[in-house]
Amino acid sequence: MCGCYIIPHISISLSKSSAPGTSALEQNALANLTAMFDNTDDYIYFKNRAHEFTGASQTLVNITHDAESWQDLIGKTDYEVFSAEYADIYYALEKKLFNQGMAMTRETQPVLDRNGKAGWVDNRKYAIYDKFGDVVGLFGVARDITEIKLTEAALRKSEERIRLAMIAAKQAWFDLEVATGEVEVSDEYSKMLGYSPEEFHSSLKEWQANLHPEDAAAVMAALQRCMQGNEPVSIEYRRKTKDGGWIWLFAVAKVIDWRVNHEPLRMIGIHMDISERKKLEEELRQKAYVDYLTEVNNRGHFMELAEKELARTLRYAKPLAIFMIDIDWFKRINDSHGHKLGDAVLKKMADTFRTTLREVDIIGRIGGEEFAVLLPETDIQEAVEAAERLRSAVAATEVPLKDGLPVKFTVSIGVASVVSIDDNMDVLLNRADEALYRAKESGRNQVCVAAH
Ligand code: GH3
Ligand code: MG
Ligand code: MG
Repeated sequence: MCGCYIIPHISISLSKSSAPGTSALEQNALANLTAMFDNTDDYIYFKNRAHEFTGASQTLVNITHDAESWQDLIGKTDYEVFSAEYADIYYALEKKLFNQGMAMTRETQPVLDRNGKAGWVDNRKYAIYDKFGDVVGLFGVARDITEIKLTEAALRKSEERIRLAMIAAKQAWFDLEVATGEVEVSDEYSKMLGYSPEEFHSSLKEWQANLHPEDAAAVMAALQRCMQGNEPVSIEYRRKTKDGGWIWLFAVAKVIDWRVNHEPLRMIGIHMDISERKKLEEELRQKAYVDYLTEVNNRGHFMELAEKELARTLRYAKPLAIFMIDIDWFKRINDSHGHKLGDAVLKKMADTFRTTLREVDIIGRIGGEEFAVLLPETDIQEAVEAAERLRSAVAATEVPLKDGLPVKFTVSIGVASVVSIDDNMDVLLNRADEALYRAKESGRNQVCVAAH
């Protein structure tokens, strides 16, 4: 008969020869085993082929019915210490080891913790062989994974909720896997760019290649900011559509998953097509800058541009000239043909300015029928020549009448130029005004130069 030797938590059958005493090495091994059984958080156990416990950690003892210590479990099966419902599940896994010859089995299985709270374990069971290769028992390690499972479930749930919300809101969303640059997008995203959901395949590269050149730098900087911070980042930018046009987008994005070294893993965000809003804004901006009738700069915008141009001129010591222009006998035109025709004359005159002057010249409507023109990098001589060209071009134009001869009109022009580093816009305008007054005095349809 074998001598039966009991060590804490586990009963071991030892051969007769080693029964009477144990070596220092064996004692050390036993001490290690005892410490492991006493202190482990996992459920560790041994069983024989009859599915009876031959050893167990204190953690396992704590979740069984009626057992106080590991000794109480020895010789019992799961059916005696767990409810039948649980025992069935554990038993099925063990049968794989004993009946199907598997060396190891592993399953996520339900468990009741010491407070009666249901949870989950990652249950691994390993076959124990004798020297003939026959399975004589098993040992198992079950690790509590309840927290992980709950976190996973909560994450899945919140993710499903977000997805549902985005789908329900018909949002154009994207989901970027940072490492690969792969991008998943919603159907609305594809449609927004003019593609059908089936034909559109996005990636970080594709997206980057289709940014508007004027916006690309700002967008890439925003992307960088987003990848480095925890806060959502938003930006407005233009992106190419399927037909090669551009749409304005408003985007908000946030990194939602990080590696431990804080490298971003995943970024999600939404896009909104704001082209319509941008168009309206541009129209409003135009209205704020441009005179509605003649479509030249209004007074405010002209003065703003003129100040900038004057500052540039003074900085680089370049020449700059200015015209003050006033229509001759305009009251008579209004009186003879009506205000509407007067408006047509103003429009026609502005057209003549645009076609006769250079692209860089800045035209402004300063008052009712008074205009100013700023001529960058133009000295007084060139300015007088340009003014003369303009005067005769206006004199050659006419506005047709339904009945009667076309209406002809002329302008008087006062010319001034920057002569001193101390000149400012008021000084310049006054000088040109004074020259204009002399042009009128001298009989109109004339160009006069300001006295410096
Ligand atoms: P002068 O040669 O001395 O300049 O004579 P003028 O009749 O042109 O006199 P003045 O420059 O003082 O006349 C300004 C007139 O311009 C008065 C006003 O009725 C007319 N006017 C100003 N703004 C508008 C406008 O937007 N449309 C029309 N039709 N007339 C305007
Ligand atoms: Mg006037
Ligand atoms: Mg006038």
